[in-house]
Amino acid sequence: MKVESFALDHTKVKAPFVRKCTVLTGEKGDKVTKFDIRFMQPNKEEMQSEGIHTLEHLLATYMRDDMDNIIDLSPMGCRTGFYMTAWGEDDVKTVIGAVENSLKKVLETEVVPAMNEVQCGNYKLHSLALAKEYAKNALSKGFTDKFMIE
Ligand SMILES: [Zn+2]
Repeated sequence: MKVESFALDHTKVKAPFVRKCTVLTGEKGDKVTKFDIRFMQPNKEEMQSEGIHTLEHLLATYMRDDMDNIIDLSPMGCRTGFYMTAWGEDDVKTVIGAVENSLKKVLETEVVPAMNEVQCGNYKLHSLALAKEYAKNALSKGFTDKFMIE
């Protein structure tokens, strides 16, 4: 399977969860890890574009307070969560801690960073209220590293 996530049976997972997708090793031995940070139950729930976009801006900012090795954090096209890539090989529990810390900050947020025409590609497509709703909902359920339904 060329695309790692296509090998995941989306009917057998229980969100919210954080999953380590892949660890890649470069020619010089540097490692890069990709994580699946899933907020919504696949094919049952989804985030609205305004909300996931705002959450992207906030997580991209707040996750870097806890982790200094993040390369990228981007929303999934299915709008059920985010992919994050980071240097090194952090364990899932470290990422869960950073995600939950970040979501607590989302609840306190009053101004969305980079929500303007210069710094964002669709600056009118935002909803802080929805981002807070998704954050609150995921925090109340809690993220797990045991995401496969038996
Ligand atoms: Zn944006």
